[in-house]
Amino acid sequence: MFDIINNILQDLFKPKNIEYNNIAFVYSHKYNLELGGHVFPAIKYEQLYNLISMDEEMLNLEFLHPEPAEKIDLELVHTKDYLEDLFSLKITNSTKNSELPLNNSILETFLYGVGGTLLATELTENYDFVYNIGGGYHHSYADHAEGFCYLNDVAVAIKKYQKKYNNKKILIIDLDVHQGNGNSKIFNKDENVFTFSMHQESIYPKKELSTLDIGLRDSCSDSEYLRILTESLKQIESQFKPDLIYYLAGADPYEDDRLGSLKITKYGLIERDKKVKDFAIKNNSKVVVLTAGGYARNTSDTVLIHFNTARVFHRK
Ligand SMILES: [Zn+2]
Repeated sequence: MFDIINNILQDLFKPKNIEYNNIAFVYSHKYNLELGGHVFPAIKYEQLYNLISMDEEMLNLEFLHPEPAEKIDLELVHTKDYLEDLFSLKITNSTKNSELPLNNSILETFLYGVGGTLLATELTENYDFVYNIGGGYHHSYADHAEGFCYLNDVAVAIKKYQKKYNNKKILIIDLDVHQGNGNSKIFNKDENVFTFSMHQESIYPKKELSTLDIGLRDSCSDSEYLRILTESLKQIESQFKPDLIYYLAGADPYEDDRLGSLKITKYGLIERDKKVKDFAIKNNSKVVVLTAGGYARNTSDTVLIHFNTARVFHRK
């Protein structure tokens, strides 16, 4: 009898689970590629994973590991012809514009990348923010590869999410220095998906029409960048209430990036991330954060910018 009462008392006074961990991280060692001197810093993912997992401020994180995406999910976005060329590793009109080689290990990397964004989307059921240490392949179209992107992880994840919840509002906040042309095209006619891309106007790619496009001038500064971002988020808020946000937190608006020529500092990029987080909290939206691009002269700068994004979303 005493034992029973004791157990009940213990249960009553057991400290409740404190929910400070409202963020999860998704990562796979398969995200990394060996590309030699290629401008795409395919080792950034492992370096970022190491930095985040060893950070004193972000102890006891949940790291979850994805499975590779399945063909049935890819077919929600990509055409059968394109997938056939891709899976048979054929260089055709649809695969040749990726600017990356095409072989089994690269295909596997993209399958895990898409799997990561699919897993991150599922995890938003239990977490406010989910940070995928990868993904953001926004140049891939339904029927062909572009940029460094063979498969479009965000588009596949959104289409799968829409199959489950057909009336949810989804916002893509794409702050990579390059326009998210693949997503803009894929969701062009979908009123439940708002595509917002703020990018450098004068560089790759050939632009598609997003719901809101902001083309920045070359050498845009922190203050100008942050002012335009604030105004744009206000404008979005007045016309769209997102349930879920995909934030492509590209590190390539950075002032020392090799592919872009904006003049945004690391400090400016932290402020950028805070604005997106504040917007999400204010609008009660979940966020999937994706690393997207980053080609700084020193890869350690790219990694640090992505790391700072993780800290911003991790902090209360
Ligand atoms: Zn980019």
